[in-house]
Amino acid sequence: MAESKQPRRGTRAREYIARDTTAISPSYTRSYPFVMDHGKGSKVWDVDGVQFIDFTAGIAVTATGHSHPDVAQAIKDQADQFIHMSGTDFYYPVQIELAEKINSLVPGDEPKQLFFTNSGTEAIEAAFKLARYSTGRTRMIAFIGGFHGRSMGALSLTASKYVQRKGFAPLVPGVTHVPYGYCYRCAYNLEYPSCDVHCVRYIEDTIFKHFIPAEEVAAIFMEPIQGEGGYVIPPPLYHQRLRELTDRYEILLVDDEIQTGMGRTGKMFAIEHWGVVPDITCIAKGIASGMPLGAMVAKKRLMTWPPGAHGNTFGGNPVSCAAALATIRLVEGGYVQNAARMGERFADRLRHLQAVHPSMGDVRVLGLMIGIELIKDKETKEPAAEMRDSVVQKCFERGLLSLGCGMSTVRFMPALNITADLVDEGLKIFEEALTEAENPT
Ligand code: PLP
Repeated sequence: MAESKQPRRGTRAREYIARDTTAISPSYTRSYPFVMDHGKGSKVWDVDGVQFIDFTAGIAVTATGHSHPDVAQAIKDQADQFIHMSGTDFYYPVQIELAEKINSLVPGDEPKQLFFTNSGTEAIEAAFKLARYSTGRTRMIAFIGGFHGRSMGALSLTASKYVQRKGFAPLVPGVTHVPYGYCYRCAYNLEYPSCDVHCVRYIEDTIFKHFIPAEEVAAIFMEPIQGEGGYVIPPPLYHQRLRELTDRYEILLVDDEIQTGMGRTGKMFAIEHWGVVPDITCIAKGIASGMPLGAMVAKKRLMTWPPGAHGNTFGGNPVSCAAALATIRLVEGGYVQNAARMGERFADRLRHLQAVHPSMGDVRVLGLMIGIELIKDKETKEPAAEMRDSVVQKCFERGLLSLGCGMSTVRFMPALNITADLVDEGLKIFEEALTEAENPT
Protein backbone atom coordinates (compact mmCIF):
# COMPACT_ATOMS: atom_id res chain seq x y z
CA MET A 1 0.00 0.00 0.00
CA ALA A 2 1.31 3.46 -0.80
CA GLU A 3 1.80 5.70 2.22
CA SER A 4 0.74 8.90 0.50
CA LYS A 5 -2.55 10.53 1.43
CA GLN A 6 -2.57 12.52 -1.79
CA PRO A 7 -5.12 11.52 -4.43
CA ARG A 8 -3.74 8.48 -6.20
CA ARG A 9 -4.23 9.96 -9.59
CA GLY A 10 -1.13 9.53 -11.65
CA THR A 11 -0.27 10.84 -15.06
CA ARG A 12 -1.96 8.12 -17.07
CA ALA A 13 -5.15 8.29 -15.02
CA ARG A 14 -5.30 12.05 -15.55
CA GLU A 15 -4.92 11.62 -19.30
CA TYR A 16 -7.67 9.01 -19.50
CA ILE A 17 -10.03 11.08 -17.38
CA ALA A 18 -9.52 14.10 -19.64
CA ARG A 19 -10.40 11.98 -22.69
CA ASP A 20 -13.36 10.41 -20.89
CA THR A 21 -14.71 13.83 -19.98
CA THR A 22 -14.69 14.79 -23.65
CA ALA A 23 -16.07 11.55 -25.06
CA ILE A 24 -18.46 10.13 -22.48
CA SER A 25 -21.84 11.27 -21.14
CA PRO A 26 -21.58 13.52 -18.08
CA SER A 27 -24.52 11.68 -16.47
CA TYR A 28 -22.24 8.99 -14.99
CA THR A 29 -21.54 9.23 -11.27
CA ARG A 30 -17.84 8.80 -10.56
CA SER A 31 -17.01 9.41 -6.89
CA TYR A 32 -13.23 9.40 -7.34
CA PRO A 33 -10.70 9.10 -10.16
CA PHE A 34 -10.10 5.36 -10.24
CA VAL A 35 -9.05 4.24 -13.75
CA MET A 36 -8.88 0.45 -13.85
CA ASP A 37 -6.09 -1.44 -15.52
CA HIS A 38 -6.62 -4.98 -14.25
CA GLY A 39 -7.97 -6.98 -11.34
CA LYS A 40 -7.58 -10.31 -9.61
CA GLY A 41 -9.99 -11.51 -6.93
CA SER A 42 -10.64 -8.55 -4.61
CA LYS A 43 -7.56 -6.58 -5.66
CA VAL A 44 -7.46 -4.11 -8.54
CA TRP A 45 -4.71 -2.01 -10.09
CA ASP A 46 -5.10 1.36 -11.75
CA VAL A 47 -3.43 2.45 -14.98
CA ASP A 48 -0.53 3.94 -12.97
CA GLY A 49 0.17 0.62 -11.28
CA VAL A 50 -1.33 1.49 -7.89
CA GLN A 51 -3.03 -1.39 -6.07
CA PHE A 52 -6.39 -1.08 -4.29
CA ILE A 53 -8.62 -3.38 -2.25
CA ASP A 54 -11.99 -3.56 -3.96
CA PHE A 55 -14.97 -3.45 -1.57
CA THR A 56 -17.31 -2.58 -4.48
CA ALA A 57 -17.07 -5.57 -6.87
CA GLY A 58 -18.06 -3.19 -9.68
CA ILE A 59 -21.32 -2.33 -7.83
CA ALA A 60 -22.07 -5.82 -6.51
CA VAL A 61 -21.38 -7.50 -9.85
CA THR A 62 -18.09 -9.43 -9.82
CA ALA A 63 -19.46 -12.04 -7.40
CA THR A 64 -16.54 -14.41 -7.93
CA GLY A 65 -13.89 -11.65 -7.83
CA HIS A 66 -12.20 -10.09 -10.81
CA SER A 67 -11.40 -12.48 -13.67
CA HIS A 68 -11.90 -15.74 -11.80
CA PRO A 69 -10.04 -18.40 -13.85
CA ASP A 70 -13.12 -20.70 -14.07
CA VAL A 71 -15.32 -17.88 -15.32
CA ALA A 72 -12.67 -16.59 -17.74
CA GLN A 73 -12.20 -20.14 -19.09
CA ALA A 74 -15.97 -20.63 -19.57
CA ILE A 75 -16.11 -17.33 -21.47
CA LYS A 76 -13.17 -18.32 -23.70
CA ASP A 77 -14.58 -21.79 -24.43
CA GLN A 78 -18.02 -20.43 -25.34
CA ALA A 79 -16.51 -17.65 -27.45
CA ASP A 80 -14.64 -20.28 -29.45
CA GLN A 81 -17.84 -22.27 -29.98
CA PHE A 82 -20.18 -19.36 -30.91
CA ILE A 83 -20.74 -15.86 -29.55
CA HIS A 84 -24.30 -15.03 -30.52
CA MET A 85 -27.39 -16.56 -32.09
CA SER A 86 -30.30 -14.69 -30.39
CA GLY A 87 -32.38 -16.69 -27.96
CA THR A 88 -35.50 -14.87 -29.11
CA ASP A 89 -35.45 -16.64 -32.48
CA PHE A 90 -33.28 -19.74 -31.98
CA TYR A 91 -32.50 -22.38 -29.37
CA TYR A 92 -29.13 -23.21 -27.79
CA PRO A 93 -28.25 -25.61 -24.97
CA VAL A 94 -26.35 -23.21 -22.68
CA GLN A 95 -29.37 -20.89 -22.41
CA ILE A 96 -31.75 -23.75 -21.65
CA GLU A 97 -29.38 -25.24 -19.08
CA LEU A 98 -29.01 -21.90 -17.32
CA ALA A 99 -32.77 -21.22 -17.28
CA GLU A 100 -33.40 -24.64 -15.70
CA LYS A 101 -30.70 -23.98 -13.10
CA ILE A 102 -31.92 -20.50 -12.13
CA ASN A 103 -35.56 -21.66 -12.00
CA SER A 104 -34.49 -24.37 -9.56
CA LEU A 105 -32.66 -21.84 -7.35
CA VAL A 106 -35.35 -19.15 -7.16
CA PRO A 107 -37.54 -19.63 -4.04
CA GLY A 108 -40.86 -21.45 -4.40
CA ASP A 109 -41.96 -24.96 -5.39
CA GLU A 110 -44.35 -23.94 -8.15
CA PRO A 111 -43.07 -24.42 -11.72
CA LYS A 112 -41.35 -21.29 -13.06
CA GLN A 113 -40.33 -19.84 -16.40
CA LEU A 114 -37.61 -17.33 -17.16
CA PHE A 115 -37.13 -14.42 -19.54
CA PHE A 116 -33.50 -13.41 -20.23
CA THR A 117 -32.39 -9.75 -20.38
CA ASN A 118 -29.12 -7.81 -20.63
CA SER A 119 -29.48 -5.82 -17.44
CA GLY A 120 -31.38 -5.32 -14.21
CA THR A 121 -33.45 -2.50 -15.63
CA GLU A 122 -34.67 -4.71 -18.44
CA ALA A 123 -35.60 -7.48 -15.99
CA ILE A 124 -37.72 -4.95 -14.08
CA GLU A 125 -39.23 -3.65 -17.31
CA ALA A 126 -40.18 -7.23 -18.25
CA ALA A 127 -41.73 -7.77 -14.81
CA PHE A 128 -43.70 -4.52 -15.12
CA LYS A 129 -45.11 -5.64 -18.48
CA LEU A 130 -45.81 -9.21 -17.40
CA ALA A 131 -47.56 -8.01 -14.23
CA ARG A 132 -49.90 -5.85 -16.29
CA TYR A 133 -50.40 -8.51 -18.95
CA SER A 134 -51.11 -11.43 -16.66
CA THR A 135 -53.35 -9.62 -14.15
CA GLY A 136 -55.14 -7.23 -16.53
CA ARG A 137 -54.56 -4.57 -13.85
CA THR A 138 -52.61 -1.37 -14.43
CA ARG A 139 -51.37 0.12 -11.14
CA MET A 140 -48.14 -0.61 -9.26
CA ILE A 141 -46.93 0.12 -5.75
CA ALA A 142 -43.24 0.70 -5.00
CA PHE A 143 -41.22 2.16 -2.13
CA ILE A 144 -39.65 5.47 -1.28
CA GLY A 145 -35.90 4.89 -1.42
CA GLY A 146 -36.33 2.06 -3.93
CA PHE A 147 -34.11 1.76 -6.99
CA HIS A 148 -35.23 -0.40 -9.91
CA GLY A 149 -33.44 1.14 -12.90
CA ARG A 150 -33.69 4.04 -15.28
CA SER A 151 -35.75 3.15 -18.38
CA MET A 152 -39.18 4.79 -18.33
CA GLY A 153 -41.05 1.87 -16.73
CA ALA A 154 -38.29 1.04 -14.24
CA LEU A 155 -37.71 4.73 -13.50
CA SER A 156 -41.39 5.12 -12.66
CA LEU A 157 -40.82 2.58 -9.86
CA THR A 158 -37.52 4.15 -8.74
CA ALA A 159 -37.73 6.74 -5.95
CA SER A 160 -34.20 6.83 -4.64
CA LYS A 161 -32.60 10.14 -5.62
CA TYR A 162 -34.31 13.19 -7.01
CA VAL A 163 -31.66 13.64 -9.75
CA GLN A 164 -32.62 10.27 -11.25
CA ARG A 165 -36.15 11.52 -12.06
CA LYS A 166 -35.67 15.27 -12.53
CA GLY A 167 -36.39 16.42 -16.08
CA PHE A 168 -37.87 13.13 -17.28
CA ALA A 169 -41.58 13.51 -16.47
CA PRO A 170 -44.17 12.38 -17.35
CA LEU A 171 -43.22 8.86 -16.32
CA VAL A 172 -45.45 5.79 -16.66
CA PRO A 173 -48.67 6.64 -14.83
CA GLY A 174 -50.20 4.52 -12.08
CA VAL A 175 -47.23 4.04 -9.72
CA THR A 176 -47.72 4.94 -6.04
CA HIS A 177 -44.78 5.12 -3.64
CA VAL A 178 -45.05 4.36 0.06
CA PRO A 179 -42.53 4.40 2.94
CA TYR A 180 -40.26 1.35 3.28
CA GLY A 181 -39.50 -0.58 6.47
CA TYR A 182 -36.61 1.70 7.40
CA CYS A 183 -36.69 1.38 11.18
CA TYR A 184 -33.69 3.65 11.86
CA ARG A 185 -35.65 6.49 10.25
CA CYS A 186 -39.24 5.31 10.67
CA ALA A 187 -41.55 7.51 8.59
CA TYR A 188 -44.19 7.19 11.31
CA ASN A 189 -41.89 7.64 14.32
CA LEU A 190 -42.83 4.24 15.68
CA GLU A 191 -40.77 1.39 17.16
CA TYR A 192 -40.58 -2.17 15.91
CA PRO A 193 -42.19 -4.56 16.95
CA SER A 194 -44.78 -2.53 18.88
CA CYS A 195 -45.60 -0.72 15.59
CA ASP A 196 -47.06 -4.01 14.32
CA VAL A 197 -45.35 -3.27 10.98
CA HIS A 198 -47.40 -0.10 10.51
CA CYS A 199 -45.60 0.69 7.22
CA VAL A 200 -47.26 -2.34 5.60
CA ARG A 201 -50.60 -1.79 7.33
CA TYR A 202 -50.58 1.78 5.97
CA ILE A 203 -50.91 0.40 2.42
CA GLU A 204 -54.13 -1.37 3.32
CA ASP A 205 -55.54 1.07 5.89
CA THR A 206 -54.75 4.31 4.04
CA ILE A 207 -53.79 3.78 0.40
CA PHE A 208 -56.40 1.14 -0.41
CA LYS A 209 -59.13 2.80 1.66
CA HIS A 210 -58.69 6.35 0.42
CA PHE A 211 -57.30 6.57 -3.06
CA ILE A 212 -56.25 3.38 -4.84
CA PRO A 213 -58.62 0.47 -5.32
CA ALA A 214 -56.64 -2.64 -4.41
CA GLU A 215 -58.26 -4.55 -7.27
CA GLU A 216 -56.56 -2.19 -9.75
CA VAL A 217 -53.07 -2.94 -8.39
CA ALA A 218 -51.11 -5.45 -10.52
CA ALA A 219 -47.96 -5.69 -8.40
CA ILE A 220 -45.92 -4.44 -5.48
CA PHE A 221 -42.25 -4.04 -6.44
CA MET A 222 -39.80 -4.33 -3.55
CA GLU A 223 -36.13 -4.85 -2.88
CA PRO A 224 -35.71 -7.30 0.02
CA ILE A 225 -32.96 -4.93 1.21
CA GLN A 226 -32.91 -1.46 -0.30
CA GLY A 227 -29.61 -1.03 -2.14
CA GLU A 228 -29.18 2.41 -3.71
CA GLY A 229 -31.56 3.70 -1.02
CA GLY A 230 -29.01 3.07 1.76
CA TYR A 231 -28.58 -0.69 2.39
CA VAL A 232 -31.73 -0.66 4.46
CA ILE A 233 -32.65 -4.02 6.02
CA PRO A 234 -36.34 -4.14 6.94
CA PRO A 235 -37.47 -5.82 10.20
CA PRO A 236 -38.13 -9.57 10.62
CA LEU A 237 -41.90 -9.54 9.97
CA TYR A 238 -41.81 -7.05 7.10
CA HIS A 239 -41.78 -9.24 4.00
CA GLN A 240 -44.16 -11.77 5.52
CA ARG A 241 -46.69 -8.98 6.09
CA LEU A 242 -46.22 -7.73 2.54
CA ARG A 243 -46.79 -11.27 1.25
CA GLU A 244 -50.00 -11.60 3.33
CA LEU A 245 -51.24 -8.25 2.04
CA THR A 246 -50.57 -9.11 -1.61
CA ASP A 247 -52.22 -12.52 -1.18
CA ARG A 248 -55.37 -10.93 0.30
CA TYR A 249 -55.84 -8.73 -2.79
CA GLU A 250 -54.37 -11.07 -5.45
CA ILE A 251 -51.58 -8.59 -6.12
CA LEU A 252 -48.27 -9.93 -7.44
CA LEU A 253 -45.21 -9.58 -5.23
CA VAL A 254 -42.18 -8.71 -7.38
CA ASP A 255 -38.84 -9.31 -5.68
CA ASP A 256 -36.00 -7.18 -7.07
CA GLU A 257 -32.94 -9.31 -6.23
CA ILE A 258 -30.77 -7.49 -8.73
CA GLN A 259 -28.34 -6.26 -6.07
CA THR A 260 -29.15 -8.69 -3.23
CA GLY A 261 -29.24 -11.97 -5.18
CA MET A 262 -26.81 -14.69 -6.24
CA GLY A 263 -25.39 -15.38 -2.78
CA ARG A 264 -24.56 -11.82 -1.77
CA THR A 265 -26.39 -11.89 1.58
CA GLY A 266 -25.20 -15.35 2.61
CA LYS A 267 -28.21 -17.05 1.03
CA MET A 268 -28.78 -17.46 -2.70
CA PHE A 269 -31.57 -14.85 -2.58
CA ALA A 270 -32.05 -12.31 0.18
CA ILE A 271 -35.80 -12.94 0.48
CA GLU A 272 -34.92 -16.40 1.84
CA HIS A 273 -33.89 -14.69 5.11
CA TRP A 274 -37.58 -13.80 5.54
CA GLY A 275 -38.92 -17.17 4.30
CA VAL A 276 -41.18 -15.53 1.72
CA VAL A 277 -41.92 -16.77 -1.81
CA PRO A 278 -42.43 -13.99 -4.39
CA ASP A 279 -44.41 -14.31 -7.63
CA ILE A 280 -41.74 -12.75 -9.83
CA THR A 281 -38.00 -12.48 -9.14
CA CYS A 282 -35.67 -10.13 -11.02
CA ILE A 283 -31.95 -10.96 -11.16
CA ALA A 284 -28.89 -9.34 -12.79
CA LYS A 285 -25.57 -7.88 -11.48
CA GLY A 286 -23.77 -10.84 -9.83
CA ILE A 287 -25.41 -13.52 -11.98
CA ALA A 288 -22.55 -13.78 -14.52
CA SER A 289 -19.56 -12.29 -12.63
CA GLY A 290 -19.56 -9.18 -14.82
CA MET A 291 -20.85 -10.41 -18.18
CA PRO A 292 -24.06 -8.54 -19.02
CA LEU A 293 -27.04 -10.71 -18.15
CA GLY A 294 -30.35 -10.41 -16.34
CA ALA A 295 -33.37 -12.59 -15.80
CA MET A 296 -37.03 -12.22 -14.89
CA VAL A 297 -38.32 -15.43 -13.34
CA ALA A 298 -42.07 -15.85 -12.86
CA LYS A 299 -44.43 -18.54 -11.70
CA LYS A 300 -45.29 -20.47 -14.87
CA ARG A 301 -49.01 -19.77 -14.53
CA LEU A 302 -48.26 -16.03 -14.91
CA MET A 303 -46.39 -16.45 -18.21
CA THR A 304 -49.57 -16.09 -20.23
CA TRP A 305 -48.10 -13.83 -22.91
CA PRO A 306 -47.93 -15.19 -26.48
CA PRO A 307 -44.95 -15.32 -28.90
CA GLY A 308 -43.97 -11.79 -29.90
CA ALA A 309 -45.39 -10.11 -26.77
CA HIS A 310 -41.87 -9.58 -25.41
CA GLY A 311 -38.36 -10.36 -26.63
CA ASN A 312 -34.90 -8.90 -27.33
CA THR A 313 -31.81 -9.49 -29.45
CA PHE A 314 -29.06 -10.01 -26.91
CA GLY A 315 -30.80 -11.38 -23.78
CA GLY A 316 -29.39 -14.76 -22.79
CA ASN A 317 -26.22 -14.25 -24.83
CA PRO A 318 -24.39 -17.61 -24.87
CA VAL A 319 -21.09 -16.20 -23.54
CA SER A 320 -22.96 -14.55 -20.66
CA CYS A 321 -24.88 -17.78 -20.00
CA ALA A 322 -21.63 -19.78 -19.86
CA ALA A 323 -20.19 -17.23 -17.41
CA ALA A 324 -23.36 -17.49 -15.31
CA LEU A 325 -23.18 -21.29 -15.13
CA ALA A 326 -19.54 -21.06 -14.01
CA THR A 327 -20.49 -18.37 -11.48
CA ILE A 328 -23.33 -20.44 -10.01
CA ARG A 329 -21.03 -23.48 -9.67
CA LEU A 330 -18.62 -21.36 -7.61
CA VAL A 331 -21.31 -19.64 -5.56
CA GLU A 332 -22.97 -22.96 -4.70
CA GLY A 333 -19.57 -24.57 -4.21
CA GLY A 334 -18.75 -22.47 -1.14
CA TYR A 335 -18.81 -18.75 -1.92
CA VAL A 336 -22.27 -18.26 -0.47
CA GLN A 337 -21.03 -19.68 2.85
CA ASN A 338 -17.95 -17.46 2.64
CA ALA A 339 -20.25 -14.44 2.12
CA ALA A 340 -22.12 -15.33 5.33
CA ARG A 341 -18.86 -15.87 7.26
CA MET A 342 -17.16 -12.72 6.01
CA GLY A 343 -20.36 -10.78 6.68
CA GLU A 344 -20.15 -11.80 10.34
CA ARG A 345 -16.53 -10.68 10.41
CA PHE A 346 -17.51 -7.27 8.98
CA ALA A 347 -20.41 -6.99 11.46
CA ASP A 348 -18.25 -7.87 14.44
CA ARG A 349 -15.47 -5.42 13.59
CA LEU A 350 -17.83 -2.62 12.59
CA ARG A 351 -19.81 -2.91 15.83
CA HIS A 352 -16.55 -2.48 17.77
CA LEU A 353 -15.79 0.63 15.70
CA GLN A 354 -19.34 1.93 16.21
CA ALA A 355 -18.80 1.91 19.99
CA VAL A 356 -15.96 4.45 19.65
CA HIS A 357 -16.95 6.46 16.56
CA PRO A 358 -19.84 8.85 17.25
CA SER A 359 -20.56 9.36 13.55
CA MET A 360 -21.42 5.68 12.96
CA GLY A 361 -25.16 5.99 13.47
CA ASP A 362 -26.35 2.64 12.17
CA VAL A 363 -24.43 -0.42 11.01
CA ARG A 364 -26.44 -2.73 8.75
CA VAL A 365 -24.91 -6.02 7.64
CA LEU A 366 -26.43 -9.06 5.96
CA GLY A 367 -23.74 -11.22 4.40
CA LEU A 368 -21.70 -9.01 2.11
CA MET A 369 -24.19 -6.15 1.92
CA ILE A 370 -22.69 -3.76 4.42
CA GLY A 371 -23.99 -0.26 5.09
CA ILE A 372 -22.63 2.23 7.62
CA GLU A 373 -24.95 5.21 8.00
CA LEU A 374 -23.02 8.27 9.11
CA ILE A 375 -24.69 10.93 11.24
CA LYS A 376 -23.77 14.29 12.75
CA ASP A 377 -25.38 13.66 16.11
CA LYS A 378 -26.58 10.49 17.88
CA GLU A 379 -29.68 12.26 19.24
CA THR A 380 -30.91 14.03 16.10
CA LYS A 381 -29.51 11.41 13.68
CA GLU A 382 -28.91 14.20 11.19
CA PRO A 383 -27.38 12.58 8.09
CA ALA A 384 -23.68 13.39 7.62
CA ALA A 385 -23.68 13.41 3.80
CA GLU A 386 -20.52 15.49 3.39
CA MET A 387 -18.63 13.37 5.88
CA ARG A 388 -19.73 10.23 4.04
CA ASP A 389 -18.39 11.63 0.77
CA SER A 390 -15.18 12.59 2.52
CA VAL A 391 -14.76 9.09 4.02
CA VAL A 392 -15.27 7.44 0.60
CA GLN A 393 -12.70 9.83 -0.88
CA LYS A 394 -10.19 9.26 1.93
CA CYS A 395 -10.59 5.48 1.61
CA PHE A 396 -9.70 5.83 -2.07
CA GLU A 397 -6.66 7.94 -1.25
CA ARG A 398 -5.46 5.18 1.10
CA GLY A 399 -6.12 2.29 -1.30
CA LEU A 400 -9.68 1.11 -0.67
CA LEU A 401 -12.57 1.30 -3.14
CA SER A 402 -15.95 1.86 -1.48
CA LEU A 403 -19.15 3.63 -2.53
CA GLY A 404 -21.89 5.72 -1.00
CA CYS A 405 -25.65 5.05 -1.04
CA GLY A 406 -28.75 6.55 0.58
CA MET A 407 -28.38 9.95 2.21
CA SER A 408 -25.19 9.31 4.16
CA THR A 409 -24.31 5.62 4.04
CA VAL A 410 -20.94 4.14 3.12
CA ARG A 411 -21.48 0.78 1.43
CA PHE A 412 -19.22 -2.22 1.02
CA MET A 413 -20.20 -5.07 -1.31
CA PRO A 414 -17.03 -7.02 -2.03
CA ALA A 415 -16.73 -10.23 -4.04
CA LEU A 416 -18.23 -13.27 -2.33
CA ASN A 417 -14.82 -14.97 -2.14
CA ILE A 418 -13.05 -12.11 -0.35
CA THR A 419 -10.51 -13.32 2.23
CA ALA A 420 -10.42 -12.49 5.94
CA ASP A 421 -7.06 -10.72 5.49
CA LEU A 422 -8.47 -8.34 2.91
CA VAL A 423 -11.57 -7.67 5.03
CA ASP A 424 -9.30 -6.68 7.94
CA GLU A 425 -6.93 -4.66 5.79
CA GLY A 426 -9.81 -2.78 4.15
CA LEU A 427 -11.50 -2.07 7.47
CA LYS A 428 -8.25 -0.69 8.87
CA ILE A 429 -8.19 1.79 5.98
CA PHE A 430 -11.87 2.62 6.60
CA GLU A 431 -11.19 3.34 10.26
CA GLU A 432 -8.26 5.64 9.45
CA ALA A 433 -10.37 7.48 6.88
CA LEU A 434 -13.29 7.82 9.29
CA THR A 435 -11.06 9.05 12.12
CA GLU A 436 -9.58 11.70 9.86
CA ALA A 437 -13.01 12.78 8.56
CA GLU A 438 -14.34 13.03 12.14
CA ASN A 439 -11.39 15.22 13.17
CA PRO A 440 -10.80 17.70 10.35
CA THR A 441 -7.70 19.84 10.92
N1 PLP B 1 -32.61 -2.89 -9.24
C1 PLP B 1 -31.67 -2.77 -8.28
C2 PLP B 1 -32.01 -3.19 -6.88
C3 PLP B 1 -30.42 -2.25 -8.58
O1 PLP B 1 -29.50 -2.13 -7.61
C4 PLP B 1 -30.13 -1.88 -9.92
C5 PLP B 1 -28.82 -1.28 -10.25
O2 PLP B 1 -28.11 -0.76 -9.45
C6 PLP B 1 -31.11 -2.04 -10.89
C7 PLP B 1 -32.34 -2.55 -10.52
C8 PLP B 1 -30.83 -1.67 -12.32
O3 PLP B 1 -29.93 -2.60 -12.85
P1 PLP B 1 -29.01 -2.23 -14.14
O4 PLP B 1 -28.12 -1.11 -13.73
O5 PLP B 1 -28.31 -3.51 -14.44
O6 PLP B 1 -29.93 -1.85 -15.23
